Amino acid sequence: LVRLRQRLAGSQSGLGRGLLALLSRDRLDEDTWESIEDVLITADVGVQPTQELVERLRTRLRVEGHADPRAILREELVALVDPDMDRRLQVTGSDGKPGVVLVVGVNGAGKTTTVGKIARILVAEDRSVVLGAADTFRAAAVDQLATWGERVGVEVVRGPEGGDPASVAFEAVKSGVERAIDTVIVDTAGRLQNKQGLMDELGKVKRVVEKQAPVTEVLLVLDATTGQNGLVQARVFSEVVAVSGIVLTKLDGSAKGGIVVQVQRELGVPVKLVGLGEGPDDLAPFSAEAFVDALLG
Ligand code: GDP
Repeated sequence: LVRLRQRLAGSQSGLGRGLLALLSRDRLDEDTWESIEDVLITADVGVQPTQELVERLRTRLRVEGHADPRAILREELVALVDPDMDRRLQVTGSDGKPGVVLVVGVNGAGKTTTVGKIARILVAEDRSVVLGAADTFRAAAVDQLATWGERVGVEVVRGPEGGDPASVAFEAVKSGVERAIDTVIVDTAGRLQNKQGLMDELGKVKRVVEKQAPVTEVLLVLDATTGQNGLVQARVFSEVVAVSGIVLTKLDGSAKGGIVVQVQRELGVPVKLVGLGEGPDDLAPFSAEAFVDALLG
């Protein structure tokens, strides 16, 4: 939470403070409400959620008065971010088999980095982990994952450059099953050249994995700085594979934290983790309350 606060301080706590300053005005005229809408839309909260939020704020301030606008704003923002979603990572398999986490998303979103960071968290919890470098189309991605593996102290299964991603995924899970590993995390390729290609590729990865062990989590990694574009990507991926959780990266460099609200609505799945920097410890579980508190500063 402390880190979330610090990292958001420079970028988007301006959102919370800006809203609070506007709400604390003596007279909330139409211009002020328009400014409030502008602040929310600029932060990527989305038009529909913004209108709903403003409607609720207006009603509550009218009924409850202006004594504590901060408390009202906090409650309504937390409700908007949906505190009731189950945000726990599903990393535990069944019948003695490893849990398998597939990590998907477009190139550059932060997939490989996120795989490394998750491995680090699991290892710190005394779980055994194997990584699969199934992003075989980018040699750099495979090397990058191998570096993470060394850093965290876990095995990385890799195939030949340009090889079949599904066969790397297969080998990684096979190794996990044979060695009774707790969790296998598979870094997939993120070429979004066409939907059919992506569908074929991720579908095959999922099928070969499921022959050996349950896919317990499909995490979609999205770059928070890409705004509406990120939403379009999210839609494509969710049509291709059943996404179970979202990792929102680069929240440290973005003033657009409102994307959390939009992407959850769009996909109907929770943001489970947020990336707050490039370092190994810069990944945090997401909580609606902590997020809103960080926004409000
Ligand atoms: P991939 O192509 O999806 O596997 O993306 P990478 O993991 O290679 O990440 C792309 C770039 O984004 C790298 O320079 C990462 O260090 C950087 N990156 C990843 N996550 C974060 C984050 O949460 N914050 C910041 N600031 N940079 C990040």
